[in-house]
Amino acid sequence: MSAGRRAPGADMPGAAAGKVARPRGLDWRHMTSLAPIGGHVPVAGGLARGALRYASEIGAEMIQVFVTNPRGWALTAGDPAQDVALRASGMPSFVHAPYLVNLGSPTAETVERSVATVRHCLLRARAIGARGVVVHTGSAVDRPRETALRQIRERLLPLMEEIPDDGPDLLLEPMAGQGAMLCGTVQELEPYLAALDRHPKVGVCLDTCHAFAAGHDLSTPEGMATTLDALHAIAPGRLRLIHANDSKDVCGSRRDRHENIGAGHIGALPFGALMRHPAAAGVPLCVETPGGAGRHREDIATLKRLRDGSPRPAGAGRDTRPP
Ligand SMILES: [Zn+2]
Repeated sequence: MSAGRRAPGADMPGAAAGKVARPRGLDWRHMTSLAPIGGHVPVAGGLARGALRYASEIGAEMIQVFVTNPRGWALTAGDPAQDVALRASGMPSFVHAPYLVNLGSPTAETVERSVATVRHCLLRARAIGARGVVVHTGSAVDRPRETALRQIRERLLPLMEEIPDDGPDLLLEPMAGQGAMLCGTVQELEPYLAALDRHPKVGVCLDTCHAFAAGHDLSTPEGMATTLDALHAIAPGRLRLIHANDSKDVCGSRRDRHENIGAGHIGALPFGALMRHPAAAGVPLCVETPGGAGRHREDIATLKRLRDGSPRPAGAGRDTRPP
C-alpha cells in the first residue's frame, strides 16, 4: 500500500467510491478502491503496540501519529522493533509534524529547527512505512508573503529532493486563515505549490475544519463539492489525506476548533459528498476530533456509514446541525 507518485489527474477515476457495490465485513486490506477511514492515534505504550491497539478500539482503517513531542523541538529516536511492527502491520499510516514548525518564520532559529524537524519526520515516516508527513503551511508572521514563500522554496525544495521515489510525501495542510497564515483557502495553495515548483512529492492534506474556518462553506454537499472542484483545479492529483473534522465555529470564523462529526456547523451529510467526489476517491480520512476512544469510534462509524451508504441506525442522531 505504498503511496507512489501519482500522475496528474490520477485522482479522477470514472466511478465514485461510494457507488461501488461490495461485500460487507472486509478489512482495509481488501478495500483498495475505498477511502480508508481512521484517526489520529496516541502512541503511548509503543508506536506500533499503542497505536494499533487504539486503532482497533476505534475501528480505524488508517492512522496518523506524532513521532516527536507535538509541542516541542526534541527529535526523539524511534524504537526499531516498534517501527518494524508498524510497517509489518500494513496499516496505512501518516506522520503529523509538530505544531511549532514554521518554515516561513522570520526567526532564524525557528527556521533551522523547522527544517531539522521536517527532515526528522520524513526519515521516521520512512522507517515506519508511512505514506506522508503532514506539515502546516506556516505563517509569514511580520514579513511579506513573497519573502516567506521564497524562504520556504529555499529550505523545503532541498528536503523534497532527499525523499526517495518510494518515500513519504510531504503533505501541506492549509490552516484556518488566522493572522499572517500563508495558506487558509484552497486558492492560497497555488502560490505555495508554485514556490515548490510543484514537486512530485508535494501533496495536500485538506482539513475540513480549517477550510470551513478560512471561508469555504462546507456545510452543504454542494459547498463541499465546489471546494473540492477548486482544489482539484489548483492541485490535480495532490489531495492525499483529509483531516475530517467538524467545526465548533461558523464558516469564515478563522478559528481552529475541531468538533465531532455531525455535532458542529458543517454537519455530517457533507462528508458523504466529500467521499463521493472524484478528487477524494481513495483518499484516506483521518478524524482529529475531541474526546477519547468512544467519541472517535462514533465519528469513524458515522463516516463509514456515509461512505458505505448503509442506513443510519436508529438513535445515532449525532448528525443534527446546530440551530
Ligand atoms: Zn488537521
